[in-house]
Amino acid sequence: MSCSLGQGPAQQPLRQGWLAQAGQWMQRHGAVIRAVQWVVVAVYAFLILVPAVMPLPGDTAHLWNNLTLAAQFVFWGIWWPFVLLSMVLLGRVWCGVLCPEGALTEFASKFGRGKSIPHWMRWGGWPFVAFGLTTIYGQMVSVYQYPKAVLLVLGGSTLGAMVIGFLYGREKRVWCKYLCPVNGVFSLLARLAPFHFKVNEDAWRNSYTHGEHGGKRVIPVNCAPLVPLRNMKGAAACHMCGRCSGHRDAIALTWRSPSEEVVALGDKQASGWDTALILYGLLGIAIGAFHWTASRWFVDLKQSIAGWLIDQNITWPLETNAPWFLLTHYPEQNDVFSWLDGTMIVGYIVVTGLVYGTVLLAILALSTVFVGRFELRRLHHFAQALIPLAGAGVFLGLSATTLSLLRAEHMQTDWAASVRIAILVITNAWSAWLAWRVTGRYSTRLWQRALALAGFCAALAVVDSAWWLMFWGWAH
Ligand code: SF4
Repeated sequence: MSCSLGQGPAQQPLRQGWLAQAGQWMQRHGAVIRAVQWVVVAVYAFLILVPAVMPLPGDTAHLWNNLTLAAQFVFWGIWWPFVLLSMVLLGRVWCGVLCPEGALTEFASKFGRGKSIPHWMRWGGWPFVAFGLTTIYGQMVSVYQYPKAVLLVLGGSTLGAMVIGFLYGREKRVWCKYLCPVNGVFSLLARLAPFHFKVNEDAWRNSYTHGEHGGKRVIPVNCAPLVPLRNMKGAAACHMCGRCSGHRDAIALTWRSPSEEVVALGDKQASGWDTALILYGLLGIAIGAFHWTASRWFVDLKQSIAGWLIDQNITWPLETNAPWFLLTHYPEQNDVFSWLDGTMIVGYIVVTGLVYGTVLLAILALSTVFVGRFELRRLHHFAQALIPLAGAGVFLGLSATTLSLLRAEHMQTDWAASVRIAILVITNAWSAWLAWRVTGRYSTRLWQRALALAGFCAALAVVDSAWWLMFWGWAH
């Protein structure tokens, strides 16, 4: 795709490929995008509110005749895994065009107090902490199974988005930029997208003297997620709303290599919190959250501890009197968590996160040494190469819910094992390729790069062990 944005004075006509034109279409049709957002808000509100006040599905309920099961399938079986996939394929189009929380927080911000963003909110650790806490809490209340838990977790997040929007910023998405529990994950995955809104710096400078669109005065753009437009380099923070397309004749939707952002920008862009989110979040806590329901170790350990407690005549941890908003409590479904269950689930997830995260961190640190010297910046850069496999893991874990819902409807899912293997093979190769390219940023010696890559492949094997355990090891 070619695009001559910024080639000399702004009077020159723009030559644009279809991708840049798609960006321009989005810029011109903001009203259509907002209408779509409100339709999504309505569907989302319906799906989280109505099932929460309906009786839980009985034994004869099916996906096609029970709203609760249908909503469960839509949210966890389709919406969530495919939103993650869309980040890699399209960047954060979901955020800018479809996300109901984004639309609501921006709307609330339009009519709110417009206060400045407080210092505490700018803390870089929120994406990791919010993701970790939401993931663990979701497991405590069985968010994948019960509509009241969905209302609490998703509805609570939406309410938070609206309150933050009402208080801070003017027509901005302060919530999305700083506090959204999945902002960090989306930001990581969007770095792999094959296109982004690219800034032509020459054209930008040219607009200082020549204006835009043939000498007209430059019209300011409201970038709701507060991306500093002039210095925008990648797709991580951009919500792909299209509003800035053509701004100063300098911004256009542009193809790029899916490796570009990780390899070329990773050294400056990657932070310690990104590394924490990849290693301890996506490859740690998230794996623990998927593992505990399948893990034989979890069952064995729980039985041993329960036996020991009974021997000691300590019975209160085995009681099931926690309220549903703290621990799963649905006696009519024979699904209640004791205090021991709750503690074990949280402990299992946290320990899994610590073990996987720390082992991976140690391997990556060692691999970094092979390309010269140890430097934190290099370690963070190297960790970015794990994004494809980390994203695939969350997709696979969530799609396990999709498959179990389909199996409950007696649908054939024999193909799933082959698809899983294919996804793992492709994303392992993709991560290894990124790691190889990253090593090239720090060394030209093949033997050094090969040693570092060998270390990185050991990290890939550690991650793969988690999926082997879940889908094959514990399943037989
Ligand atoms: S940089 Fe901001 S205005 Fe431009 S497309 Fe991204 S989110 Fe929209």
